[in-house]
Amino acid sequence: MLELLKTHFGYDAFLPMQEEVIGAVMAGQDCFVLMPTGGGKSLCYQLPAMALPGLTLVVSPLIALMKDQVDALEANGLPAAFINSTQTPDELRRVVRRIRSGEIKLLYVAPERVIEPMFADFLQTLDVSLVAIDEAHCVSEWGHEFRPAYRELANLRRVCPASPVIALTATATERVRADILSQLGLRQPGTYISSFNRPNLTYSVIPKENDLSGLLSVLGRHRGESAIIYCGSRKATEDMAQALSERGFVAEAYHAGLEAEDRRKIQDRFIRDQTPIVAATIAFGMGINKPDVRLVVHHDLPKSIESYYQETGRAGRDGLPSECVLYFSYGGKSRQEFFINQIEDDAERERARERLDQVISLCSLSSCRRKFVLEYLGEAWADQDCAGCDNCLQPREKYDATEIVQKVLSAVIRTGERFGAAHVIGVLRGSRGERILKQGHDQLSVYGIAASHSQNELRDLVEDLKREGFVSVGEGEYPTLAVTPRGREFLKNRETLMLSRRVAREERADTKGRRIRGDDGAYDAGLYNELAALRRAIADQRGIPAFMIFGNRTLQDMARKMPRTPAEFSRVSGVGRAKLEDLGEPFLDCINSYAKEHGMPETGSGDSRKSGNDRRAAEPSARADGHSYHETGRIISGGVSLEEAAATRGLSPQTILGHIERLVESGIPVEWAHLLPHLQRRAAIETVLEILSDNPLRPVFEELGGEYSYDEIRLVRLARRYPPQQGSRSSEEGERPDPRSMMGRRG
Ligand code: ADP
Ligand code: ZN
Repeated sequence: MLELLKTHFGYDAFLPMQEEVIGAVMAGQDCFVLMPTGGGKSLCYQLPAMALPGLTLVVSPLIALMKDQVDALEANGLPAAFINSTQTPDELRRVVRRIRSGEIKLLYVAPERVIEPMFADFLQTLDVSLVAIDEAHCVSEWGHEFRPAYRELANLRRVCPASPVIALTATATERVRADILSQLGLRQPGTYISSFNRPNLTYSVIPKENDLSGLLSVLGRHRGESAIIYCGSRKATEDMAQALSERGFVAEAYHAGLEAEDRRKIQDRFIRDQTPIVAATIAFGMGINKPDVRLVVHHDLPKSIESYYQETGRAGRDGLPSECVLYFSYGGKSRQEFFINQIEDDAERERARERLDQVISLCSLSSCRRKFVLEYLGEAWADQDCAGCDNCLQPREKYDATEIVQKVLSAVIRTGERFGAAHVIGVLRGSRGERILKQGHDQLSVYGIAASHSQNELRDLVEDLKREGFVSVGEGEYPTLAVTPRGREFLKNRETLMLSRRVAREERADTKGRRIRGDDGAYDAGLYNELAALRRAIADQRGIPAFMIFGNRTLQDMARKMPRTPAEFSRVSGVGRAKLEDLGEPFLDCINSYAKEHGMPETGSGDSRKSGNDRRAAEPSARADGHSYHETGRIISGGVSLEEAAATRGLSPQTILGHIERLVESGIPVEWAHLLPHLQRRAAIETVLEILSDNPLRPVFEELGGEYSYDEIRLVRLARRYPPQQGSRSSEEGERPDPRSMMGRRG
């Protein structure tokens, strides 16, 4: 199996649990596989599919993803196909012929089709070796993606009695698991449950501020990378996308109110790295199979811990470090409570309230957030310091809260225990709010005595006091604060109180270089950039997402091992037989010319760590170094042509163009208008781009009769998306921000 793993997928070892599952499947046993997103579930049936004699049938709920899944398999040289309603009768006939001839090893079908009697008849004429049921939680009404057709999949047993069934899901809840086992009729299945921890994700909760400055700096760390910002309403997604666009980010809104066609286009641009940021409602979800989402933000509170886990889970499927940021405000909490109070059904309302309480607990936690979430999902987690959440990375400190607590309690008493936290805090901070003045609370002795404390600090403190049992919240319509007997005792006896608070917010240097388990060490960041630009150019020409060419992990391994020959290239993780043949040449060319430019020896040792001299080695978790792009931007801004810049830098013109695209898309000033073809040529290209989609470029190239180069087309396309500013060079020169910091270099 290890040999097949390398040949077909390019990997040298199994991920945890894959080997056991595959062993069981090969032995003909039914299997139930629970692994988190990114755990490597697909391989559990794809590899057996290559080893078994007949066909592997894959039931998959998302028609929109089937083509991508099949494309990705074909890129690895695996004979796969799908059958769904998007095909013409002709295409369908062709697929059926390939299936009958035994050429196809993996067939993707939607559940509704599988249960049609005609399809069952068709299946009975085939040699089906294995049935895989992906996203198996769709069988459960308790899950969030129930599909009635899944209920009838148990019938497949009668149609293919000899084939083992493997059911896979990333859903962690107990009730859904039980449903899957009972509904799918698995026969004494081997059950494989791996940890739901996602070691490469970092979790943090940040107080929500009134402006976007905090969010902008988070996004700034991820310039040019894919990010999802979850917002609580359709309107909020649109406001967010607009606010970000005005501040120079490329962002779009996504919600269920958009036309299906528009939603598809937005998803597509996201997957193809044209729109890095999507501000979305939770409607943006299951169809997002993008492995390199580096940031998931919850700008409003998630509905439950499960949805938080699910939504943050869309970050970092490729196993590389990614960030999850949750914005919390007490105002947001009140808004949710307001909506919950509208729910008519008593039991339903109670459940919603419970779910919200759990989310609030997660937010106000001072211990490990990962531990909280995993334990909520039913997984025992002994580790106290996960090194990957804000509370573990930035511990809280104990402090003597006696004085400030006395002030807060006094303010509650002096205002008559008839007001909520917002009012009391306003009084403490000396606010000139209308209600405070009207009540004459500006005349109280407690007015303004805590002016040096921020609103959020005092909010946190009030929460602490509730937890300590010093204040209680009224039962009536408004959540008024009152001091409890325990609180009065505290004041009367002049007790002292120690509480904990976050150590002053200053980014700890060591949090950035955190190593993920299984990290393989340093790689050459400059080379990585070249390889990424090449990948981008090839992906654009073929009209497929960049990650289908090679994943980021594979590019990193290439930049680490620096293969110089096909034999060395095949040793890179993620390079199987098909990709070696298909892509080895351009990537080896790129590596060899980079090596020459940097004066590295002709033949690589196969490991850059032993041979590097002037190498800029990067921490594996660091973003690709912007240095090489910056250099290209500087040269191009000097007014030279692509070819001249290429000669100066010892790179290909295509790579130079790739740099410019990345710079322009990241909003970094670069003077490139002079590279555009002359007006007439430009107009001709624009006309075709107007009619045809601008991705892939091959149809555009062909429509233009081959008279215009890919470079020209790419430049015109770039200008359509990001019109260059002409003649602004001199005015901008002095105040150009440092592009390095804008590339989001960490640390
Ligand atoms: P899931 O379906 O569980 O979310 P995937 O099947 O998409 O996970 O796999 C996640 C990532 O891990 C993919 O990029 C895949 O190529 C990679 N992967 C799978 N198996 C291995 C392996 N044995 N070694 C290295 N990478 C792997
Ligand atoms: Zn932690």
